[in-house]
Amino acid sequence: MLTEAITSLKGVGEKSAEQLAQLHIFTIHDLLYYFPSRYDIFEKKPLNELIHDDQVTISGVVVTDPVVQFYGRKKSRLSFTLEIDGVAVRAVMFNRAFAQKHIKSHEPVVLTGKWDAFRLQITVNTYKVGEPSENDTIQSFYPLKGKVTNQRLRQLTKQAINKYKHEIKDFLPTTYLSEYKLPPLYDAIVNLHMPKDKHSLKHARRRMIYEEFLMFQLKVQLLKREEKKKEGGASQSFDQQKVEQFTQSFPFTLTNAQQRSLHEILADMSSPLRMNRLLQGDVGSGKTAVAAISLYATLTANKQGALMVPTEILAEQHVESLKQLFQTRANICLLTGSLKKSERDQLLVDIREGIYDIVVGTHALIQEDVFFHDLGLVIVDEQHRFGVEQRRKLREKGLDPDVLFMTATPIPRTLAITAFGDMDVSSIDELPSGRKLIETYWVKENMFERILTFIQKRVNNGEQAYVICPLIEESDVLDISNAVDIYERLTAFYPSSTRVGLMHGRLSTEEKDEVMNDFSENKIDVLVSTTVVEVGVNVPNATVMVIYDAQRFGLSQLHQLRGRVGRGAKQSYCILIADPKGETGKERMKIMTETNDGFELAEHDLQLRGPGDFFGRKQSGLPEFKVADMIRDFKALEVARKDAQQIISEDRLNKDVHYEQLKQMLARELTTDNTLD
Ligand code: ADP
Ligand code: MG
Repeated sequence: MLTEAITSLKGVGEKSAEQLAQLHIFTIHDLLYYFPSRYDIFEKKPLNELIHDDQVTISGVVVTDPVVQFYGRKKSRLSFTLEIDGVAVRAVMFNRAFAQKHIKSHEPVVLTGKWDAFRLQITVNTYKVGEPSENDTIQSFYPLKGKVTNQRLRQLTKQAINKYKHEIKDFLPTTYLSEYKLPPLYDAIVNLHMPKDKHSLKHARRRMIYEEFLMFQLKVQLLKREEKKKEGGASQSFDQQKVEQFTQSFPFTLTNAQQRSLHEILADMSSPLRMNRLLQGDVGSGKTAVAAISLYATLTANKQGALMVPTEILAEQHVESLKQLFQTRANICLLTGSLKKSERDQLLVDIREGIYDIVVGTHALIQEDVFFHDLGLVIVDEQHRFGVEQRRKLREKGLDPDVLFMTATPIPRTLAITAFGDMDVSSIDELPSGRKLIETYWVKENMFERILTFIQKRVNNGEQAYVICPLIEESDVLDISNAVDIYERLTAFYPSSTRVGLMHGRLSTEEKDEVMNDFSENKIDVLVSTTVVEVGVNVPNATVMVIYDAQRFGLSQLHQLRGRVGRGAKQSYCILIADPKGETGKERMKIMTETNDGFELAEHDLQLRGPGDFFGRKQSGLPEFKVADMIRDFKALEVARKDAQQIISEDRLNKDVHYEQLKQMLARELTTDNTLD
């Protein structure tokens, strides 16, 4: 049985089992579904077709003997030059000084690694001395943790596939497999672990992508149907008239899009069905206003509301702005991880007794010891993974509130409906009128001094500026030195009356808070920062956003960063410093200068499908898959969604014997599931 423990394999004892557990591999099934995250395919491409930052394989002849530099305690950097079709390419390899013995000048090598198209440089992951050959198999690389090696995983999966080959049976209905010409499960698993060739790997991946999406969609749609069935109790009878009055008290009237969204939310809240809704809208589109009115509606139904945000700074800002909007209408408190124990204890008592109407906080909000008097609505702001698991936590406390998610990463509606299959979606796709559009410019690095002069002018005018340095992925040390460099350039350039501040990820939470506070109190004129300012900070007096190496950011990230300015009455500016090499990169910068509309950007980006683009992946809140990728494989996701709909609406799981395997698999996964979180 595939559900057998991993220890049933030869050579896997307690100790190995413990190590494998770190990779969440407990059973044979887990192992078979633990796929390589990367394959090295020895296939030669001309240099000018290689994409910046991609994993590539190149081959050429070594022209300089490798040089090794040691630094730090155990660190080394090996570098050499090779020649490929008459072009000199640099190769660097970290912490593998021993390779110096193998790599010799005049000899051919095959290198795989990350390509830097600007420097014509490869950061090598694997190397092979010799000519590339036809028989070179595809090498697979597993995501690793702890003591388990790649070699070990290769060996174990091979053993498992051999031992259990008769039990790896397909559970997807053959109708769909043959319709899409997808290989059976056994072939797919074998080729994902030990690809025979590129072609087989491609089809194995196609199959697994479809499988993941179909299972995901089936689960999501089954759950949604379950939720809809559960009636009673969740209906909030709020006071329409009071809600109306509250809305009237705002210094502005709601936009049509705000009104429509609010209407959808209130309808959900008053219906006996539990709300599970996504409210998406660009930065500044007025989501907070809609959230506040929804919270107020809950209060008039004599229930409490909670607002969950990603950071403490943001929580504080929200408390302030909610207090302003609510005036005396609500008791609002802040619950974060950094409260003193005595304060926290008192607060918890007050929350339980219903003294507070609205609780704003970080994840601390749904911790075990937090009890509400009667929680009616939870609003989750930005980038939180709030899913089945969190909902279960709340339910365990006897709570089953309506839940509203808010995100400022606009997602094309089609994708949102598919990606968040279990959620309803409201979109605020219109900005309040009279908003000054942020002027966006794209310039080259050699304009830096002119930009600094421009900032100086704004500062003399009492305004403030951000200068964002990119996060350098491989190394947060480099990242910080980059920020420090720019900080020093600025302090050297400006007279001492221009106050320059610095913020980066290495600062402690208190230090960050201090810098941020100084900036929001206008004690700092120009803030040099890595992307840590990205999430939600609100300093209306800041009017200039300069983004260094803008081509390194995803469009959504750029748009989010740009949204840090343009929050006050004054004209704001966004300056992108970028020198993208490829056409796609240039197009992306151009689009940024042409539109301020996040939805439009999203659509563009879906079309451009630039590598790793719009959502900045990790922070998107989109569910994650092993092989599939919601953006890249969007079309497959659509297909799977329709198929799942068909299967469920025709109740094939119960009515058709060919779906029995699938039904059982779903039942098993739904009881142990965490993919939906
Ligand atoms: P978001 O949360 O979507 O980024 P906010 O709700 O914080 O946006 O709104 C941004 C700013 O716009 C706030 O200062 C808010 O008071 C203002 N605002 C919100 N809705 C409107 C509106 N309909 N008309 C004018 N200003 C509005
Ligand atoms: Mg907001």
